[in-house]
Formats: sequence, C-alpha cells, structure tokens
Amino acid sequence: MKKIEFVFHETPEAGKIYEIKEGVFWFPMPLPMMGPDYVNCYILEDGQEIALLDTGANIGDSKKIWENILSKNFPKKKISSIYVTHHHPDHIGLAGWLSEKYNAEIICSRTTYIMAKMLSLDVHDKVSPSTERFWRQAGMSEEMLEVKLKARPFNFGDGVAPLEKGFKRLTENEIININGVEWEVRMGNGHAPEHATLWSKELNLVFAGDQVLPGISSNLGVYPTEPYADTVGDWVNSCERFLKQASDDYIVLPGHGRPFSGLPQRLVQLIENHKAALKRIKEDLKYGPKTTVELFKAIFKRDINKKEYMLALHEAVGHVNHLYKTGAVIRDVTINGAFIFKLK
Ligand SMILES: [Zn+2]
Ligand SMILES: [Zn+2]
Repeated sequence: MKKIEFVFHETPEAGKIYEIKEGVFWFPMPLPMMGPDYVNCYILEDGQEIALLDTGANIGDSKKIWENILSKNFPKKKISSIYVTHHHPDHIGLAGWLSEKYNAEIICSRTTYIMAKMLSLDVHDKVSPSTERFWRQAGMSEEMLEVKLKARPFNFGDGVAPLEKGFKRLTENEIININGVEWEVRMGNGHAPEHATLWSKELNLVFAGDQVLPGISSNLGVYPTEPYADTVGDWVNSCERFLKQASDDYIVLPGHGRPFSGLPQRLVQLIENHKAALKRIKEDLKYGPKTTVELFKAIFKRDINKKEYMLALHEAVGHVNHLYKTGAVIRDVTINGAFIFKLK
C-alpha cells in the first residue's frame, strides 16, 4: 500500500480552474463561513457539451463565479448534465439554479434528491420540539441550550436554491458514460445517505465527494431527522466495501482539499480512526457513566470550543449510537432527558 500523496503541490486558488486530465477540470468554489475554505466542483467535457459535478452552496458570489467560469472557459458549450454526489448544501446548493438557467438535468441518487428537497421545504423560525429533545438527549449544556433555543435555527434552504425540476436517478453499480468514458457508480453511507462516487478504470480517477477526503475525516453527523442513525457503522462498512475496489493507481478527486493518490491507505486510516475513537469511548466509560457531550474529549482527543460544538455533538451522537446499536453499551435517561451511557 502506497502512502497518501497530493497530486497538486500548490495551494489551489478558489474560483480558478485546473485541468486534471484531458477534458477533466477542477475548480475550487469558495465557501464563505461554512467550515472548509472551498468545495470542489468539477467540469467534464462531454462531446460537444459539458457535464458538471457538484455545484457549491447558494451563498455569497457563487452564482457569479459559475457564470464567469463557464463564460470564460466554455463559452460555446451547452451543459448536458449536473451530477451531484450528496445532499449537503455545499454540493447540491446551486444544482437547482444551474439546472433552470442552463436547462440541464440533475443526476444523483434518489436519497440525495429527496433529502435535499424535503429539507429545503422544512423551514422553521423557531427550534422545533424534536430538535430540542435531540439536543437534550445528547446532554447539551444548559448554557448552550439557552443560546441555541433563542437563535433562529439553521434552515437547509438558506444555502440551497429551489429544486424545481425532477432528477435522473443514479444507482449502485450502474455504469454511466461521459465523453465515451465509462464510470461506475458506487454508493457510500455514513457522511450522507446514498452518497454517490464515480470510478473510472480508464482514466484512473474517482470522484469521491465527501466520502473520502484527504487530511480531515468526513463528518459522520447524526441529525434530528434520524436521531438513532448508526452513521459510524454505515461509514466503516462503506470504507471496507470501497477498499476491495481501491488501488494505488487511482487519483481521488475529493469534495474538499486537493486531489490525491493512495486511496487504499486513506481508507484504512479512516476505518482505524473511527475504530480507535470507539475504543477510547469504552475506555472512558470504565470510569463511570457519561452523556454524549461528556464523551467529547474521549472522541476528539481535545477540548471542543463553542464554534465546533454543534459539529462535534452531531458526530459524537454517531459514535454512541453505534456502540448502543451493537450492544457494547447500555443507555439510561437522566431526569433532564439526557441519555447516559455505561458499559455492559
Ligand atoms: Zn458533505
Ligand atoms: Zn462538503
């Protein structure tokens, strides 16, 4: 197994376009105030037309950036299709807008489209009782709870342009053809349900979305829409499945960060990272029962600041859900409504 190596050594400039292989272009779209600095969008020549893959969020200047990129680099090309890896706003955010403006089809998994459409329509001015219950179950501090209950909740639709048209479905193991090149579809889970990745043996490229990222581990968040999801179990399972298909020949084109080689090594690392976190939780519980929030330090190996708190909470729930589902821990409820975990 070779070690992980970046294919580009320079720090990419958001909004600039790079050619990865003939006819395959990468452009990092800025993500103001959304965590990672940029999300990777890709453009593929498709005969006389072009296909897009992932779109950026519907925030800031993203629409203008797309218009500039397309008019400058592909002035006479029609867009054949817009592939979307998964339903998160930084990936599907402008699919609806691009699809309307350029009259192009959106192509993604059924779950991707349904999740994005459902969450876009689920608008709240106040935190819903089920979200509050979810936070309480995780053991959110009273101080944080008070702040969160006062603020307008995050609404998915804030970063996602309306999805007015339908979509064309991508399915597991389907072979799609872009520019005469065959790409096999493989679905991952854990970061987002039914997350599509595209693999080409001919070009030795994998469009991995957020399923396999370099440097940072994908967030395995659990949210109030599915509070008992076993994202960690789903994730490890996907990585193990991908490992059977992975080889050192592939260059991975991720959703964030720079393209890299060393896919088998990266998958092994990701599996081991999460298994080690599960082990640390079990070690920590030897000292007594704990709520999810009280397990932050065991899971992340450091103190979590206020800015990271929510991301950490969602991911920590994924870890305890997995231990509970697999029977490694038992769960009680405190008088405040928090789940408290102890070893069996
Ligand atoms: Zn994502
Ligand atoms: Zn992302």
